[in-house]
This record gives sequence, C-alpha cells and structure tokens, in this order.
Amino acid sequence: MTSIRTIGVIGAGQMGNGIAHVCALAGFDVLLNDVSPDRVEAGIKTIARNMERQVHRQMITPEARDAALRRLKPALTLKEFADVDFAIEAATEKEPVKRAIFDAVCPMMRKDAIVATNTSSISITRLGASTDRPERFIGLHFMNPVPLMKLVEVIRGLATDQQTYDAAVHIVERLGKHVTNAEDFPAFIVNRVLMPMINEAVYTLYEGVGTVESIDTAMKLGANHPMGPLELADFIGLDTCLSIMQVLHDGLADTKYRPCPLLVKYVEAGWVGKKAGRGFYDYRGEVPVPTR
Ligand code: NAD
Repeated sequence: MTSIRTIGVIGAGQMGNGIAHVCALAGFDVLLNDVSPDRVEAGIKTIARNMERQVHRQMITPEARDAALRRLKPALTLKEFADVDFAIEAATEKEPVKRAIFDAVCPMMRKDAIVATNTSSISITRLGASTDRPERFIGLHFMNPVPLMKLVEVIRGLATDQQTYDAAVHIVERLGKHVTNAEDFPAFIVNRVLMPMINEAVYTLYEGVGTVESIDTAMKLGANHPMGPLELADFIGLDTCLSIMQVLHDGLADTKYRPCPLLVKYVEAGWVGKKAGRGFYDYRGEVPVPTR
C-alpha cells in the first residue's frame, strides 16, 4: 500500500458520521455505508448540518465544507468498497454484528487494503483473527464527538503489522488528532477507566444515594468534570455503555465490573440516551428533564 486516498466508513451513526466528517474535511475521498439508504442519508445530513455549524463558528470556510461534501459519497452496498484503501468499521458495539460486517466486506476489498475497527472495548486480536487479514487489521478508537475530540487510541492486535500501524497513525495525524497507544485488553485505556466510573454513578442512583441531578452536579462541581457521568452516559449511548461493561466483566472476570441492573433496565426499555430521545434524561422537550 503506497498511499491512502479513499476511506470507507461502515456505520453512519454518531461515531461513523463523525469519522466520515473529519476524513472528508482532511481531503480523503469517503464512502459511507449503513444497513439502509435511510440511515446513510441521515448520516450525510448530520454531517452537512455539523459542517454548517463549523462554518458559522468560523472553524472551517464554506469552500472547505463544499469540497468535503463533494468528497463524501453514500455506499449503499459493500461492493462499492472494491477501491477503498482503508475501511473503518463504526457499527453497533456487538461482536456478532462486527464479525458479520468483516465477513461481508473483506471479500469485496483489495488484499492490500487495511481494515480498522472503532470498537470501544472488543478484542482487536479476536476480531482481526476472524478476518482474512489479521496483519492488516487494527483498532482506531475515536472519541465522541469526533470533530471536536482530539484523541484517537490506536490498538494493535497480536498480528497487526508495522505497515498497518504506520498507515493508521498517518491517517490520525492527517486528521489533526493525537495518537495514544493502548495494548489490546478489554476496553483499552479510556473506557477501562471511564466506564466503571459511569457504572458506579448508575449504582449510586440505583441505591438512592443521589438523584440524577445531584449525582451529575456533584461530579461537575465536586470533581470538575465538564459533564456529569449520567449526562455523559446518555451522550455515549446506554446500549454502548452496557456492552462495554459486559466486555470488561467477561474479559477480566472480576465482579467489580458487573453492569448495574438499572443500566440494564434502561437499555431494555429502549431508553438508550440522547440518540433515542430518552435515557437518564428526557430530551424530547425544550430542556433535558431527569427521568428519576
Ligand atoms: P450508533 O448506535 O449511533 O450507530 C451505530 C450504527 O451502526 C447505526 O447507524 C446502525 O444502523 C449501524 N449498523 C448496525 N449494523 C450494521 C451493519 N451490519 N452494517 C452497517 N451499519 C450497521 O452507535 P455509535 O455511538 O456510533 O457507536 C458505533 C461504534 O463506535 C461502536 O463500536 C461504539 O462502541 C464505538 N464508539 C462509540 C462512542 C460513543 O461515545 N458513542 C465512542 C467511541 C467509540
């Protein structure tokens, strides 16, 4: 692989559309895929809206926005990944979903193309081993919201080769982001530290130590966190938080990582946070209202 020009993004949700957004602005040609044309279209609309906001705040010029939007194309099937140099999977945080995507996309891609996953927690070594190219498979863990957050965790699987690592770092640097290396253990660095704190905040609510509001206020004003843990959980997605806790619990076999039953209940209700309109807060009105 000499140079990377085309990046294919699989999953057009909050992370996938953010990754496509920054890649297109950085000058890569970008293909965006999801399970249905509606989802891809919704992702592209979100990108256009977010870029418009950046123009408004004079973070980018209207010309840069127009050029980036021209470089961004929907890919309604994975057959369109035949000319992709580097694919980034950013679909739902479920191992069977990700494996099915790699089974479908790898045969469509050139043998020398690289596949990355934006998983928050799942083993890169295990996901890579399930593909036809473990040496050209890597973890690139972007932070949410992608256009604003500076960090990308880069995680090598056991088989990831140096060229793949160098190509991934090159992309992250072209996006103007900072690389931090993490070893391939459950949830890597950021979520290994962050998720148990969020899960503990849910236990604090579950046990009645505080209300949604008092817990968030306590951590914002008492620990100087920019967002309260429950507000942050809603922003990440409670389904994603639960999946990460399950990976930590299963992967490290330590009861300290058991997901809080209240987190499970919210996910079972479909109250998975901001993206669903309801989580620990209800976002359907003018201002967020705590749901407990
Ligand atoms: P999301 O629910 O907003 O989006 C997931 C998208 O994947 C949906 O649009 C869904 O339709 C799509 N999808 C599901 N199956 C698919 C398939 N077979 N093919 C194509 N698309 C498919 O979730 P998200 O928050 O964007 O998370 C996506 C990934 O990014 C997860 O692995 C998550 O752990 C990771 N991540 C999330 C955050 C966060 O803060 N939310 C941060 C870093 C990494």
